[in-house]
Order: sequence, then structure tokens, then C-alpha cells
Amino acid sequence: MVGRVLFSLWFRLVVGFALVLALTLFGVSLYLNRVAASEAVRLEQDIDEVRAARIEEVVSRYIQGRSRRVGLQGTLEHAGWLYGWRITVHDRDGTPLADSHVMVTRQATGPAVTRKSMPIMDEGQEVASLVMESLHEPAGGAEPTASRMAASVNRALVYTGIGGALGGIALITLVSGRILGPVHRLRSAARRLGRGDLSQRVPSPGQDEIGELGRSFNTMAEALERAEQQRRSMIADVAHELRTPLSNIRGYLEAVKDGLVEPTPETIDTIADQASLLSHLVEDLRVLALAEAGSLRLDLQRISLEPILRAAAESFGPRAQAKGVDLTLDTAPDLPLVNADAARIAQVTGNLIENAVFQTPEGGSVRLSAETEESRVRVAVEDTGPGIEPEDLERIFDRFYRVDPSRTRATGGAGLGLTIAKQLVEAHGGVIYAQSSLAGGSRFVFELPAAPAPLDGGDAAD
Ligand code: ADP
Repeated sequence: MVGRVLFSLWFRLVVGFALVLALTLFGVSLYLNRVAASEAVRLEQDIDEVRAARIEEVVSRYIQGRSRRVGLQGTLEHAGWLYGWRITVHDRDGTPLADSHVMVTRQATGPAVTRKSMPIMDEGQEVASLVMESLHEPAGGAEPTASRMAASVNRALVYTGIGGALGGIALITLVSGRILGPVHRLRSAARRLGRGDLSQRVPSPGQDEIGELGRSFNTMAEALERAEQQRRSMIADVAHELRTPLSNIRGYLEAVKDGLVEPTPETIDTIADQASLLSHLVEDLRVLALAEAGSLRLDLQRISLEPILRAAAESFGPRAQAKGVDLTLDTAPDLPLVNADAARIAQVTGNLIENAVFQTPEGGSVRLSAETEESRVRVAVEDTGPGIEPEDLERIFDRFYRVDPSRTRATGGAGLGLTIAKQLVEAHGGVIYAQSSLAGGSRFVFELPAAPAPLDGGDAAD
């Protein structure tokens, strides 16, 4: 409990504040003490000067007006008592004329702390001398005055400090409550999130750093929740896709075992087809997993896309012809070379052509083309099939997404072809997208960056 308080932000804020306050007050007190001391000395000196001048004026008046000298002794005694000075006046021969402490012995007054003597003039002639000795307070009791001032300043500072500290602690408690409230909420939400409750969100209305932290937390929690949902649906989808060919195989085998179906070559072919579908699916999943993890190994070479496109068009020619679909190839001359894995690009192209031929009805056409677009090579597969609705266009590259599941499942398509194509193109630093074709069908495009010219200027391919 004590440890928790000691390490709490509130405690650190209070200690930090108290330290700053103490240091500031100490500095201010030191400075004020010094200033007060020097100012007090100056003040005392000024007062002494004025007093000395006043006494000199009074004594001069007594000396010059000879008849009134009688009052001089009394005046000096009064002034001496008032100022704490011993004031003596002697005539030119050194005979004492008046002494403020005439009744007091030297021993009793103690030694003089300061001594000041000045001549008394009459018509330009020195007629007497005036001596003023301060008895206990030096040319001003500057020290006591200064320390009195410093003490009262320090007292004021201590009271201010105590008031400031109380006010500061109250303020910090208030402010830290406002700051720490959202932090505590964030902490408990993070704990619950860590325990697996991914629905955790925190209110984050403020525009300050804490508000920003809350929003980042919410974004992270949303991403985690989305990833978790994707993971679950991926497992469900994979299980679903594997189940169909597996249960087909099992069904046939059991029928053969029970003597319901003859193990004819046709039956065995059907079972083999289902098995190959299964292994295709597993291979697709493997490639996809590798690509998504960024660990798909590509055999990159400086190659021309033209022979790859030509080979793809040729291999799908018979299938298109059988379906009554016109498959054409149109590549721009002088296509730049690309850094690519020929087998993977052939796989992408084959998938796009296969989809296009499959979707295009008899009498339609599929056009495969390649052209240069700035520093990229753009390959397009256009068909005159049914096209793709805008809402499907956005999701067509998602895993297991099929526009019409019942139609494509019959062909064995699991909705992974375009997902893999996207991963492969992106692994090459390219982009892939689908559009509604001007011809009324769909248009699938992928673009790969052109390979930079080799340093020796030679052409590696062709
Ligand atoms: P599959 O392997 O099932 O064909 P794909 O990822 O290749 O999966 O395609 C996903 C979906 O996109 C398909 O189910 C299909 O409905 C749609 N699709 C793909 N190509 C075309 C096209 N050329 N025209 C219309 N729809 C298409």
C-alpha cells in the first residue's frame, strides 16, 4: 500500500511541487536578505549623516551666540540620550565646553564604536571642535535593523510557503484526479483487453495527450477485434472449404466399401478429382499464409512480361475456344523489363484469364493486353462477362469471397484465387485492382514497376 502511494504519479507530483516551492522560497529569501542588509546599512548611514549635520548646526548656533551657551549642555545630553551617541564640544584650547555624558565615566559608556569630529566655524575661524562617538550601535545599527528586516521577510516567506504548499497540494490533487481518472480507466480497459475481452473501449473526448492515448487504445482494440474476427472466420472458412471435398471422398469410399458403387475407373477419377481439389486448396492456403507473413520467397529476375502473357494466352486458348469465347493478346511494343518471379506472375495471369473465360458466356471475348504506364507495366484482362457489382468490387480480393458461391463452388473455386493474386502482385511492389469494363464485363488490372536500367546499359533479358 505504502509502496503504491510512493510510486504513484500523485505523490511524485506533490514531491516535485514541494521541492520547486522550497527551492524558490529559499532563493527569494537569500536574495531579499542580502538586499535588505545593504539597504539597511545605507539607510542608517544616511540617517547618521543627517543627525550629525543637525547636531553641528545646533552646536554652531550655540557657540556663535555666546550668551546662549548655557543651554548647550542640556541640548547635548538630550541628543546623546536620543541617538545613543556621546557628543562633546571643546574650545580651541581643548577645554571641554559641553559633554552629553558628563555624569558618566568612560568605563561606563564602553569604547566608542565610531567617532566623528568636525570643526565649529565662526566668521571663517575655527572656534571649537565637535566630537560625536556612537556608543553601542555602529554607524548605524545596520546589522540589527537588517536582521530584523530579514527575519520578518523570512517569516512572511514561511507563511507564504505553507499557504502555497497547501494550495499547491489541493490543486495537484484536483488536477491529478482529472488526469489520472482517464489513465485509470485506460489501465483497467487494457487489463480486460489482455484477458481476452476485445470489446473494451475507453471514452476519449479530450484533445490533449491523454485523449490521444485513449483514441490510440481504441484504434488498437478495434484492430485486434477485427483481426480476431478475421482469424475466426478464416478458420471457419477453411474448415468449411475442406469439408466439402473430404466428405465427397469419404462418401464415395464408403459407398464402394458397402458395395453400393462399383470401383470403376470413373469412380476412382471422381475421388482423385476431389483429392486434387483438396491439395490445391491446401497449397493455396500455404501460399497465402506465406505471402501474408511476408515470407514468400520470390525468384526475382529481370524479365519481359510478353512471353509470360503469350504462354498464358496459348494455354487457355483451347478452353476458350471450346466455350466459344474469343481470347486475344495485345501487347505494346518495347515493354520495359520488370523484376519479377516468372512462375508467380504466370500464376496471377492464369488466374485472371481463367476467371474471365469462366465468367464470359459463349460468343463473348476476353482481351489480354500489356502497355507501359509511366515507369510501370500495366497488364489488363478484360471480358464481356456479367461484370461485377460495385459492392462486390470492393470485396473481390478478400479471402474466400465469392460473388455467387453456389456457381463457383461447382468449379472448385474457393474464393482464394484473387486474394493470392493480390498478395503476389504486392510482393512484387505492384498493385492490382478490378473495374467494370467499358465492354460491359469486368476489367482486372495489375501493374508492376519497370526494372531500373542496369548500370552497364546492357539488356539482361531477350
Ligand atoms: P475463385 O477461385 O472462387 O474463382 P477468385 O478469388 O478467383 O475465387 O474470385 C472471387 C470471385 O470473384 C469469384 O467468385 C467470382 O464471382 C468473382 N470474379 C472473379 N473474376 C471475375 C470476372 N472476370 N467477372 C466476374 N466475376 C469475377
